[in-house]
Amino acid sequence: MKFDTIIIGGGLSGLVCGIRLVKAGRRCVIVSAGQSALHFSSGSFDLLNALPDGSPVECPLEALGQLALQAPEHPYVKLGVERMKALLAEVPAFFAGAGVAVEGQGVRNHYRMTPLGAWHPTWLTLKDFFCCGSPEGKLPWRKAAIFNIAGFLDFYAEFIAGDLKKRGVECSVHLFNMDALEHLRKNPSEMRSANIARVFEKQENLERLGEILRDEAGDAEVVLLPAVFGLERADALACLRRVANRKVMLLPTLPPSVPGIRTQLQLKKYFQDCGGVYMLGDTVMKAEVEDGHVVRVYSYNHGNIPFVADDVVLATGSFFSQGLIAEPGRVYEPVFGLDVKYPEEREQWFDLNFFNRQAYQSFGVETDGGFRGMRGGKVLDNLYVAGAVLGGFNAVKEGCGGGVSILTALAVAQQIMDKRKIG
Ligand SMILES: Cc1cc2nc3c(=O)[nH]c(=O)nc-3n(C[C@H](O)[C@H](O)[C@H](O)COP(=O)(O)OP(=O)(O)OC[C@H]3O[C@@H](n4cnc5c(N)ncnc54)[C@H](O)[C@@H]3O)c2cc1C
Repeated sequence: MKFDTIIIGGGLSGLVCGIRLVKAGRRCVIVSAGQSALHFSSGSFDLLNALPDGSPVECPLEALGQLALQAPEHPYVKLGVERMKALLAEVPAFFAGAGVAVEGQGVRNHYRMTPLGAWHPTWLTLKDFFCCGSPEGKLPWRKAAIFNIAGFLDFYAEFIAGDLKKRGVECSVHLFNMDALEHLRKNPSEMRSANIARVFEKQENLERLGEILRDEAGDAEVVLLPAVFGLERADALACLRRVANRKVMLLPTLPPSVPGIRTQLQLKKYFQDCGGVYMLGDTVMKAEVEDGHVVRVYSYNHGNIPFVADDVVLATGSFFSQGLIAEPGRVYEPVFGLDVKYPEEREQWFDLNFFNRQAYQSFGVETDGGFRGMRGGKVLDNLYVAGAVLGGFNAVKEGCGGGVSILTALAVAQQIMDKRKIG
């Protein structure tokens, strides 16, 4: 099977890279084993919330100088300030093109509430989420009503109300119940966000909930709901607002993430609509490399029929997606056997205090300055690496996972287009 570019991994970074390339006229295939981190995401993409030494960051671009001193192998340092600025400027139009509505900008972080009622600094948040410019001080509402579904355990309305009250918002907490949800309630393990969202794909159920909100929210100016709406429809909140006749906003739940799944579906559809081929449920097993050049790639489903392309992009994610594998004595990248940097002493991989910075979270594939993968210290000239499989950053402690995935994917697409003189 011959393509211009093979992308291995169809999460955020694989899709962003693939969309950019198909829009420039490249014939691309994405081969993806399964679910991505988007299925578990918060609904926000983080750019940079903290430096490796723990100091908080408000304005990510202004912190890049310090980042270069503290984490010289960070993907942002490879990109450099000017390229970061140019790529950041591309992102809003990119998401708008895919129909993914986001709010926020790269100059200054904004704050989104977590499922446990804390404020998390971030870069872009999916539209309809409850966000604000600062984690302290007054909010624009006097009264809010928080609604949860009776029996839904992945949303903590009381914690959220507690924080809002501290910020001067009078809060009421309501539980609601509906006949259409009864079949989920029979088994507590079925009462999960994605299953609930399927119930609210139906117009009549949305309208019934809108009536409940209208009748029970009293004089609250804003209704806050767990993000269990709009798995495949983008107009769910508009419908609730119309029937409830007031502002309705979303708060994240514990995983799985309905807005994250919708984003994955939207990006995948956009990629396919632009002409890309997406092979879901297939795993790339191995590749053949000749003279530092990837010549053939083999997948589980296609057996000995190879994928052949000018360029290959590795976007297989980190440990979570098995883009990296850890065994007691080694950490490795399973498809190409690319170089992964990590200390030999296993004790240095982790900190026994779970909440401390964990070194293993920064392990990842080594690349040259152009994000080309390396094996045995040598660059593979047509193999590019993007997203969470890269090394040199800690997505949890630095709050930069979404930014690294999106910006390195765009940068890799640009490298390929420049090399092939297209776009
Ligand atoms: C649970 C979780 C939640 C997160 N939430 C957030 C968040 O809310 N905000 C944020 O900014 N960052 C978050 N992050 C950081 C996250 O890593 C990035 O934001 C980003 O989504 C990662 O995208 P990716 O495409 O690089 O990797 P992934 O999303 O992990 O996608 C990799 C894909 O490659 C596939 N794959 C792996 N190996 C193969 C193979 N051999 N062949 C074919 N396919 C393969 C996998 O099945 C998967 O679909 C989260 C990370 C995790 C693990």
